[in-house]
Formats: sequence, C-alpha cells, structure tokens
Amino acid sequence: MTILDGKKISNDIKNEITEEVNKIKERGEKVPHLAAVIVGNGGASLTYVGSKVRACERVGFKSTMVRMSNTTSEVELLDKIEELNNNDEIDGFIVQLPLPPQIDTQKVLMAVDPNKDVDGFHPMNFGKMALDMSTFIPATPFGILELLDRYQVETDGKHTVIIGRSHIVGRPMSILMGRKGFPGNSTVTLTHSHTKNITQITSQADIIISALGVPKFLKAEMVKDDVVIIDVGITRVPDETKEKGYYITGDVDFENVSKKASYITPVPGGVGPMTIAMLLKNTLLARERNSL
Ligand code: NAP
Repeated sequence: MTILDGKKISNDIKNEITEEVNKIKERGEKVPHLAAVIVGNGGASLTYVGSKVRACERVGFKSTMVRMSNTTSEVELLDKIEELNNNDEIDGFIVQLPLPPQIDTQKVLMAVDPNKDVDGFHPMNFGKMALDMSTFIPATPFGILELLDRYQVETDGKHTVIIGRSHIVGRPMSILMGRKGFPGNSTVTLTHSHTKNITQITSQADIIISALGVPKFLKAEMVKDDVVIIDVGITRVPDETKEKGYYITGDVDFENVSKKASYITPVPGGVGPMTIAMLLKNTLLARERNSL
C-alpha cells in the first residue's frame, strides 16, 4: 500500500512555484497577487483563508485578505467583487464559502470576473472545463488530478466511483475522471444520498473518490482489494481530550480500508494541502494570462 502524500507533493509544488516567482522577480516584473474575501468568521472559514494567505507568503506571492462582517448585504459584497474585478493589481481572488444566508452564493460567484476566478467556480470556467478547454480547474479536483499524476496511478479503463455530487468536488471530479487523457479515461459512477445499494457500487470500484463529509463512512467491507482511495472529507469531530477541542477525520475508515488499498490519501495530509497548492498554481496561471 502506498500513501498518496499530499503534504509532500504540495510542498514540491510550492517549491516549483517559488522558483517561478523568483524568475518573475529577477525580470523585475510584478509578483502574482491573490485576494481572499471572507464574510463573517464562522466555522473553519477563517482557518482556511489564513492557511491560503500563509501559503501565498511562503511562495512569494502578494496576498490581501478582505474581511467583511457577518451582516454584510448582498449588494455590499457585489460592490466589493466589482472593485476586485477592476483592480489591476490583483490577478485572482476567491470568495470563501459558505456565505451567510442573506447572500445568494450563485449570484456572487457569477459576479467574479472569469479571468480572476482562481477557484474555477464561475459557470464559464466550469463549462470550459466540461468541454476540455484550458481554464481554471477548481482547486480540490485539480489537486486530486495532480496527486494521481505524480504517483502515476493508472486511471485508464478503470471504474471510478465518486461519492458526493457537490459543485466544488464531486461533480467536477466526475467530469475530469471521465474525460480523455491522463488522469482520466475512467468509467465514472457518480453517487449521492439517493443512491441505492451503494456498497454494491463501491465494491466494484477500482478508484473511489469520497467527498460526502461523513466520518468513517467508507468501511473495509465496502471496497475490493487493491482499490485506490482518495478521501476528500474533512470533518471536525468534537473531542475534549484534544487541545483544540476537536480532531479532524476523513470519510474513510483509514485503519481498515488502508489494509486493502493499493493507494490511499490520509486525512489530514492528503487532499487538503493539495487544494491550497493548486489555488496557488491557478493564481500563477491567472497572472500569466492577465499579463498577456
Ligand atoms: P457537500 O456540498 O457537503 O455535499 C455532500 C455530498 O455528499 C452531496 O452530494 C450528498 O448527496 C452526498 N451524500 C451525503 N450523504 C451521503 C450518503 N450517505 N451516501 C452517499 N452520498 C451522500 O460536499 P462538499 O462540499 O464536496 O464536501 C464534502 C466533504 O469534503 C466535506 O467533509 C468537506 O469538508 C470536504 N472538503 C474537503 C476539501 C479539501 O480540500 N480536502 C475541499 C472541499 C470539501 P446529495 O447531493 O443527494 O445531498
């Protein structure tokens, strides 16, 4: 069994990006600049944005964190997005989700300039991805592709089962694994909460990508020998014995499933760090495109 070490690979990617930034600096050009908008400070959002900003610093990007209160109106947020769209200093930006209930998330994502949409959530970029055109691939699916690529995990002709159909992970992943090329050329089954007999489906899978957010959902008896496991889930489970008052777990019963797997991502240290590295990669791409 091989661990798909997202921590290591994401560090490699960050080092590669740092080299690119050094070349940009040597040419006396402007370094990439990522902005992150965060509305309110609920849940893990602030932690996630904090790690994204720190990652920018590490590779030599400029970063700006835009903090807005929990009571921000939709109009105020849309005005801020317009400002970022028009700010030539900023190459790309993200709006951290989830947003408070008074704000229509889809409307906000539609307002982001597709050329600065480094999360790849704008319908234009999502459409381009579905049509195999060059675009910003959402960071988590992009990170999974990169892990499969760097470990040369065979995907051609394999049966890939995806659990969860969210717009940010499951749905794009189903498109990417089924497209022509590597990683890809898989036969894909996309499952969700209405799927019947999910064990029957997962037990036929060569590759399982789990993104549902239910701790230890995927058990050893649900998978076949030599399966490849990508665990996207991140759930905070309350635990008073931990300093932070919780521990992080994935969707997969790692201890038992890993005994049957050929490759598996750990949680933490698998897909999570890859997501941040690929956001940086998209920002570098945005800078290259926008400076043409
Ligand atoms: P989400 O929007 O929370 O949706 C969950 C999906 O799982 C839905 O499609 C839902 O089906 C499906 N589902 C729920 N219960 C199920 C069940 N019992 N059997 C089969 N499918 C079921 O998903 P998300 O935003 O993609 O997040 C999923 C997990 O990944 C979370 O733990 C999240 O924290 C984590 N995540 C991690 C990263 C990372 O960087 N590692 C990035 C993003 C998300 P329906 O559509 O029918 O409701």
